[in-house]
Amino acid sequence: MLRMSGTEVAKIRQETLKNDVQNFFAQRGRKPGLAVIIVGHDPASQVYVRNKVKTTVALGMESFHFELPENIQEADLIKKIEELNRDPSVDGILVQLPLPKHLRSDVVLEAIRPEKDPDGLTVGNLGLLFAGRKRVAPCTPWGVMAILEHYKIPVAGRHAVVVGRSNIVGKPMAQLLLEANATVTICHSRTRDLAAVTRSGDIVIAAAGQCRFMGKEHVAEGAVVVDVGIHRPESGAFAGKLCGDVRYEELENWASAATPVPGGVGPMTIQMLMENTVHLAILGAKIGANLGA
Ligand code: NAP
Repeated sequence: MLRMSGTEVAKIRQETLKNDVQNFFAQRGRKPGLAVIIVGHDPASQVYVRNKVKTTVALGMESFHFELPENIQEADLIKKIEELNRDPSVDGILVQLPLPKHLRSDVVLEAIRPEKDPDGLTVGNLGLLFAGRKRVAPCTPWGVMAILEHYKIPVAGRHAVVVGRSNIVGKPMAQLLLEANATVTICHSRTRDLAAVTRSGDIVIAAAGQCRFMGKEHVAEGAVVVDVGIHRPESGAFAGKLCGDVRYEELENWASAATPVPGGVGPMTIQMLMENTVHLAILGAKIGANLGA
């Protein structure tokens, strides 16, 4: 079985991206800028944000980092986002989720101008994606497409089964596969006989957020499996370890290719966030140039 390593794919794509960043700097006299906003002190979110800031800087981009108090009012958070919307040195704005309970994440995320939304999660960007006029795609499913492309997994004409229908992963994943001419089935918690449906897939994308719940019985011999799930169970045999939605070890000598956890889709998500930010910077610069800026 081919082990599809997101770590490797991200490393290769980073080199290309560094060149794009340098070219942007040479042409525009400034670096592409990513602003990350974190509200409160959630330790997991702080780790994610630190990684994003580190990667942004390592790629030669400009990093803007805002730590806002846990009890911030929604209107004040939106005011901050609007300020960044107007800042010409900021190309991408990311609000780290989850937000404290008193803040409505859908309302807050919508305050980001779609032209500065590198997560691709505003209604404007999701709308463009579903209309077949993609500006940027949500980072995790876009990263899955990059893995499939890197390992030359044929998609056109094949049956892809996506398990999960969230706006962040499942739905945009299905749309991207459809755009790549797969025949797509979407499964969810109300799907009857999940294993029978996933076994009919040439490509199975597991994004249900259920720790190690899919195994060999869900996969046809020779199929390709991409595991989007990320879990760190507190008890049981895998306590404290990173796990996916799939029991990877069962796929050896059965599936033709699969992504591991860790080292699969996870490292691609942050890479695609950086690529989307640079893409938005280039698009913004083109629009600016057309307007004579
Ligand atoms: P989510 O919002 O909880 O959505 C889970 C989806 O899976 C829902 O559509 C749900 O169906 C479906 N589902 C749940 N249990 C199921 C079952 N037993 N059988 C079939 N479908 C089932 O999760 P998400 O945000 O999409 O994330 C999914 C997973 O990906 C999580 O483990 C998350 O941590 C991980 N993730 C990883 C990355 C990364 O960088 N690798 C990024 C984002 C997310 P209903 O709609 O019917 O409830």
